[in-house]
Amino acid sequence: MPASSSKHPNADVRMRGFTQRTTVEDALAWVDSAVADFGALDSEDVPLPDAAGRVTARDIRSTVNVPGFARAMMDGLAVIADDTSGANSYNALPLSLLGSCFPSQPFAGDVSHGTAVQIMTGAPMPDGADAVLPIENAQLDGSRVIVLGEVSPGKHVGQMGEDVRVGDIVLRAGRTLRAQDIGLLSSLGFDRVSVVRRPLVRVLITGNELLPMGTPPHGFRITDANGPMLAALIARDGGEPIVAAIIPDDREAIRAALDESADIVLVSGGSSVGKEDYVPALLAEHGELAVHGIAMRPSSPTGMGRLNGKLVFLLPGNPVSCLCAYDFFAGRAIRALGGRFPDWPYARVGARLARKLVSVVGRVDYARVHLNNGIAEPLAISGASVLSSVTRADGFVLVPGDSEGFAEGAKVEVFLY
Ligand code: AMP
Ligand code: MG
Repeated sequence: MPASSSKHPNADVRMRGFTQRTTVEDALAWVDSAVADFGALDSEDVPLPDAAGRVTARDIRSTVNVPGFARAMMDGLAVIADDTSGANSYNALPLSLLGSCFPSQPFAGDVSHGTAVQIMTGAPMPDGADAVLPIENAQLDGSRVIVLGEVSPGKHVGQMGEDVRVGDIVLRAGRTLRAQDIGLLSSLGFDRVSVVRRPLVRVLITGNELLPMGTPPHGFRITDANGPMLAALIARDGGEPIVAAIIPDDREAIRAALDESADIVLVSGGSSVGKEDYVPALLAEHGELAVHGIAMRPSSPTGMGRLNGKLVFLLPGNPVSCLCAYDFFAGRAIRALGGRFPDWPYARVGARLARKLVSVVGRVDYARVHLNNGIAEPLAISGASVLSSVTRADGFVLVPGDSEGFAEGAKVEVFLY
């Protein structure tokens, strides 16, 4: 992660404002240590059909062999491979046909030299047979089979335990379950799986000017963007979002909301040093305000700390700042707490800058860009409140703290939304 040089120890936020800011690097280090202190979340058993995307809480061992018996992998004839030796279309070898077997319906007798049993894919191999001669290499002729090709021992036979053996660890703890993992678990006889509990993330949307989702903005009021956006981000990162009703800029109302149960609390708005920004002081008084003010743009009025065992993130109300602060810090904590890979869930591509990107040493910039045939076009970097800048953008470029920016044509890494 990019670093800059300034670091500020905790102090009375209302006195110092943002004269000094914590580096992104130090803020990230705080997130990681706070998550480590928090400890692992407990686990819960969920039905397999609900388990996709969840994270396994422990190693999962198979108690069965798959397959549990040797089975045919093709339609054909169960034979003794040796009996087909030297067979080809000029040297057809006859075998006598004893009968047939189907999936779950084994053949009752044995295959001995000079005999064969018709077999379907998935059927158990009859005793004595060691290979399946594909039906294309044989001709059926009443009670005889004409062998027109060779097979080697074991050919087209799925051996017992070939896929999974009793005692095998099939999935490790910490695995984000994919559809095929769920298929595998079902094939082993499981109908539930033990997964890490989703971190409960309470979202507090503060602001007297805010109208709830579904209400068109009117007069001097604006409609909440951050609540639904944060809920979507939290769900993406494996958290369980709870978005309460909008909270006015009122110290006691915010304090009461902060006391509700959660693993992580995200407070949108009121995170800065303005007159109505109560949250930093509340956290400093009743818990710990570990970081307040970060050397980055946007999102510099971000804070983080702890309250009664909960991790608390103070996110600026500006929707773009809110998104950026979430992505840098809160999302990382949610992913890590839920047992996931903590880094951004964004793919990266290399690109060349269409225009220069100017920054300031000591500050990390989160610059939204358009991507066009490998060319990254920076979108207006000012205007942190313009949410449409992040919906128009394909991704973002980070300008590290020790950089003054990038020249036109510079090769950069774009994180794709
Ligand atoms: P604040 O961080 O509370 O000082 O808010 C900064 C700016 O973001 C102000 O213009 C707010 O009106 C705006 N804002 C705050 N919260 C939200 C929200 N939930 N949705 C959209 N805009 C917001
Ligand atoms: Mg506000």
